[in-house]
Amino acid sequence: MSERVLFYAIAIGVAVGVAFGWVAGEAATGVAWIGDLFLNALKMLVIPLVVSSMIEAVTSMASRGGLGSVARLTFAYYLATTFIAVVIGLLVVSVIRPGDGVELGSGAVPIIAATGLADIARSIVAPNLFAAAADFQILPLLVFSLVFGIALQAGGAAAAPAIGFFKASNDALLRMVGWIMVAAPVGIAALVAAHLGKAGGGPAFMEEVAAIGLYFATVLLGLSLHAFIVLPLILIVLTRRSPREFAANLGEALITAFSTASSSATLPLTMRLNEERNGLSEEATSFVLPLGATVNMDGTALYEAVAAVFIAQASGVDLTFGAQIVVVLTATLASVGAAGIPQAGLVTLVIVLQAVGLPLEGISAILAVDWLLDRFRTTVNVWGDSVGAAVVDARMGATLHP
Ligand code: ASP
Repeated sequence: MSERVLFYAIAIGVAVGVAFGWVAGEAATGVAWIGDLFLNALKMLVIPLVVSSMIEAVTSMASRGGLGSVARLTFAYYLATTFIAVVIGLLVVSVIRPGDGVELGSGAVPIIAATGLADIARSIVAPNLFAAAADFQILPLLVFSLVFGIALQAGGAAAAPAIGFFKASNDALLRMVGWIMVAAPVGIAALVAAHLGKAGGGPAFMEEVAAIGLYFATVLLGLSLHAFIVLPLILIVLTRRSPREFAANLGEALITAFSTASSSATLPLTMRLNEERNGLSEEATSFVLPLGATVNMDGTALYEAVAAVFIAQASGVDLTFGAQIVVVLTATLASVGAAGIPQAGLVTLVIVLQAVGLPLEGISAILAVDWLLDRFRTTVNVWGDSVGAAVVDARMGATLHP
């Protein structure tokens, strides 16, 4: 299937999925298994892909002595863009004030276990890599692969077959992504229909959105400013690429991010399209994208800032300047701590709320529309990672394309 055909087929899939879920309501959940099948196929690749790609990228860069500078630029990019996103979130929510006059119900806190900053630190290293993989915890696997790659490279000629193994595995896995994508139009249609159906269909969902519509619109406005103005500007200034063309090449990945609400599940596709169509070096995509999928979440950070201040406004709390700084810092950390899976940001929002002493019950007020906002912020997360890979590719050109 040609690339354009696949893109349009996926777009039609989304439209069909929305229409079916809207009209059929609860009954649309009957097709959930088709969506799950597609999602599972993508997720199946994630663990082997993050390990092989990170090892490949690290050994290749370490062999040329560029690993340190690439890593520094990558983290500087993550930090700077996440920070800008949080500040945009704070600005829009402070100007629009969607929380004024909103009644916070006293619903139960729908959170499994509160996460704290110490938990984020703890999640970086896992005692058992297989248990981490089984739990879909990507970060400890990346940390292991990074160090393992450096150690492998230090092994000299004796390590060459092992390095070759990971490189060949990485190529094979990316080839598999292409095969799985053929099923994307149907898989995505089913995913969208089933989720809308679970929300009670179109009319029921519209009622929920209307109840906190201004909050919803505030998050969307913030995300749009970041996605359509800030990131494209960064792309133009630092890489001289056309944002329109760069984004169009990522069409399938962005739609998949929207329909799966998971940066990690989308990762195989993000890597393949950035390499194949945007022509980014294998090192840049293999290093920046897997790390970015778990660490760099501009959309999530922005949303957490808006959500926290919204809850403050609704509870009649005026956040001091100092408290707003705490929101900036904790929202940044909370987005780093959020896994690239659906609604992870809602869980780490607890960190922000606790840091400034806001009621956790506020979460129940934003819960109903979170599954949809999640999709928008995941799309921005994937877009931000891709722009980051382009920046690293362009600025580290000499190191990455010898
Ligand atoms: N679902 C988001 C992601 O995978 C994380 C979040 O909940 O904000 O990027």
